[in-house]
Amino acid sequence: MDFGLGEGSERLRAETRAFLDEVLTDEILEECHRSGVNHHPRFSKAVSERGWLALGWPVEEGGQGRSPLEVLAHAEELQRRNAPTYGIGTTMMVSHVIALLGTEELKQRIIPRALAAEIVIALGFTEPENGSDAAAAATRAVRDGDGWTITGSKMFTTNAHIADYVFLLARTDPDVPKHRGLTTFLVPMDQPGVEIQEVRTLSGERTNITFYNDVRVGDDLRIGEVDGGWKVMGAALSREHANGFVGEQQRLLADLVAWAREAVGEDGRPRIGDPAVAERIGRSRADIEVSLLLQRRSVWLQSEGLDVRGKGSMAKLFSTERLERQAAAVLELVGADALRSRGEPSAVRGGGFEYAVRHAKGTTIYAGTSEIQRDIIAQHALSLPRPL
Ligand SMILES: Cc1cc2nc3c(=O)[nH]c(=O)nc-3n(C[C@H](O)[C@H](O)[C@H](O)COP(=O)(O)OP(=O)(O)OC[C@H]3O[C@@H](n4cnc5c(N)ncnc54)[C@H](O)[C@@H]3O)c2cc1C
Repeated sequence: MDFGLGEGSERLRAETRAFLDEVLTDEILEECHRSGVNHHPRFSKAVSERGWLALGWPVEEGGQGRSPLEVLAHAEELQRRNAPTYGIGTTMMVSHVIALLGTEELKQRIIPRALAAEIVIALGFTEPENGSDAAAAATRAVRDGDGWTITGSKMFTTNAHIADYVFLLARTDPDVPKHRGLTTFLVPMDQPGVEIQEVRTLSGERTNITFYNDVRVGDDLRIGEVDGGWKVMGAALSREHANGFVGEQQRLLADLVAWAREAVGEDGRPRIGDPAVAERIGRSRADIEVSLLLQRRSVWLQSEGLDVRGKGSMAKLFSTERLERQAAAVLELVGADALRSRGEPSAVRGGGFEYAVRHAKGTTIYAGTSEIQRDIIAQHALSLPRPL
């Protein structure tokens, strides 16, 4: 049995590493950390110039026709190095949906600019009152001549403040069962009636609440059928199957090992020889192996056209909950020194340990909370009934 990703994937992984060594500078990482924004225009442009924004797309559509396992090896490296890819990721996810379900005109208008890293598209699904249950969206889109008028608000519209468009899920028919009355639009952000308010998370990530006060959107910016928005959402979210956070686990372990090599215990011996440290390193390494395998299995199943339902959820659930647990355990192991934050000259490993504890919490929420992942696993992997 071969658990590797294959020769082509490892070649691309090596190319990605060399690219990141050159392009992903400390200055870019520092800017992203300071702003809390997981997007950097110069970095995105460099990825675009390598032709890596749509690695898995067919060549004739502007991609490189790479296999899902090659795409995964590339993504694993980006995440391990903390590359700012959230803006790229959401933009290309929506571009993929447009390629599948958009009109010819919309494809011509959006996709070339997305592939050139000239535009950012944010996701507007979650609302103040509806998150996990995205189909309960209450933001209204009402027919208005040859277009639509949008009224409502969206919560956690990450990158909306730098976005050209928000991919918005709106209610077009309130009188039918909730999944059947939704439509998706590409809402231009630079227009009257759009209001953006900053929201900071526990770990300092910048996200936003966005308000739409009688915002006009042309019918040419609708994606998919009127009241067919749930089908469009299916196409969008089907790409979240490889949503593990193994790269974050790998960075935490690398930091722990580096700390243990430098730090000296009260007995004057290096902490790397401390059995408690060795145990934590061993547990962490085993967790990473399982996370990697769960994620790779999910991508492989999908690439073979096999039933993947519930498998991506396992990868997401396991990697994020283990990250959360490891971060807390490492903080306890390193002790009070680990509580000093980034920016303080005496902070251990640049404040990375206490940051990991705060950041890990968010990973168990976005792209579907742990409870939702457990529901999905129960339904699809164990064939249990859907919760009421
Ligand atoms: C940093 C960050 C960035 C984000 N970026 C975006 C973005 O760009 N675009 C976007 O649209 N959204 C984004 N989100 C929103 C994210 O997807 C939601 O927070 C998430 O889906 C949960 O929704 P909620 O916060 O409304 O919680 P709720 O759905 O209100 O859930 C509250 C609690 O109830 C639990 N719960 C809910 N339903 C069930 C159920 N059926 N069974 C068991 N337990 C349940 C949840 O697990 C949770 O613990 C982001 C969130 C964060 C934190």
